[in-house]
Amino acid sequence: RTYLSAVEALNPRINAYITVTAEAALEQAKAAEAALAKGEAKPLTGIPLAIKDLFCTTGIRTTAASKILGNFVPPYESTVTANLLRDGAVFLGKANLDEFAMGSSNATSAFGGVENPWKRQNSDAALVPGGSSGGSAAAVAARMALGATATDTGGSIRQPAAFCGIAGIKPTYGRVSRFGTVAFASSLDQAGPVARTVEDCAILLGSMSGFDPKDSTSADMPVPDFAAACKRGVKGLRIGIPKEYRLPGMPAEIEALWQQGIAWLKEAGAETVDISLPHTQYALPTYYIVAPAEASSNLARYDGVRFGLREDGVDLKDLYERTRRAGFGEEVRRRIMIGTYVLSAGYYDAYYLKAQKIRTLIKRDFDEAWGKVDAILTPATPSAAFGRDEKRDDPVAMYLNDVFTVTANLAGIPGLSVPAGLDAQGLPLGLQVLGKSFDEETVFAVGRAIE
Ligand code: GLN
Repeated sequence: RTYLSAVEALNPRINAYITVTAEAALEQAKAAEAALAKGEAKPLTGIPLAIKDLFCTTGIRTTAASKILGNFVPPYESTVTANLLRDGAVFLGKANLDEFAMGSSNATSAFGGVENPWKRQNSDAALVPGGSSGGSAAAVAARMALGATATDTGGSIRQPAAFCGIAGIKPTYGRVSRFGTVAFASSLDQAGPVARTVEDCAILLGSMSGFDPKDSTSADMPVPDFAAACKRGVKGLRIGIPKEYRLPGMPAEIEALWQQGIAWLKEAGAETVDISLPHTQYALPTYYIVAPAEASSNLARYDGVRFGLREDGVDLKDLYERTRRAGFGEEVRRRIMIGTYVLSAGYYDAYYLKAQKIRTLIKRDFDEAWGKVDAILTPATPSAAFGRDEKRDDPVAMYLNDVFTVTANLAGIPGLSVPAGLDAQGLPLGLQVLGKSFDEETVFAVGRAIE
């Protein structure tokens, strides 16, 4: 009830939820109360969560923040939400996001943008919460949920977590099932949690993870006790500091925070090692070829016949065209055009194939680094949260937000964003911990040390 009142009071301004499921939440809470009374508590019994509106929920509208799925009610449950329900969680509703998770500021949602609960000192200007999981992050930051599900294709868990002063982890590709999660770029998409603390993220990830025969890329690996790993400490760990993440023109405050993180880790008994990840500069252009290519293919299914919105047409082709024109927003159309272009017969070799080769080189940089270090520390974002009107009409400036986060998706490795400090205007800043594939435990231990 406390969380539902917060949603009622704040959602009209913050717009973190597209759908609030108050009645169902109260019923789940009642069941949780009964389980607690009987001494049958599970890991998440009674924990109120927001669910990014990209996870299919049986009988509850799932929009992907797109008009084209505006009336889509799935007849099945995503594996992630099924796992959370199995462990006793209470769902407050479906969180806002960028349309089909394409964006870094929540400006592209067909249900209106999300407002960051944080403001600059002495200013009333509305700021973006980051994206695409901006609704999830804003809901947690404003105490409209205790935790939330999110997804990360190029930074959509870590960047909004950093902008909203909370923690968020993109696990290793394959750690969390993608079944029932609306696809953006299938070789990059991974679900994960956002929460107030690193340890809360560890608990939530433990519940979300695990092998799922319904996702062919799901990894058949045991799920370790992530919460226990948070308490391991960092004594003796070697932490890599990659020089390529020191960008020209990066705000001095971000550099200072990074140095602070290094100092904290040394104090806690870790050793830091300067390393090089030489192909980092190609990560952003590579991502913005691979992700739209896969998106253009995944989004072909929204044709007005099988899902959601249907516009009338004189014939089937006309129906397809009218539905897609009416249903997709501007950014989604831009991605479809870029994606079909880089995959087209004359340009495939020059763009898509080349991007795939560079992706391999980026992954190899990390493989080499793991010979020298156990984890890597970088800034999470190149800036703090920005104003709602900034970067709106400049897609390239918007894409630059992802410069520190896309590498983890291209390489498939885990990345954790940790709230680590404030800038001079009082806005939160995050540090990012990267780790080896399926070594989220070390990532959590390092994250806990700089939190
Ligand atoms: N901002 C990136 C994009 O727009 C990443 C989005 C995401 O991770 N879902 O593609």
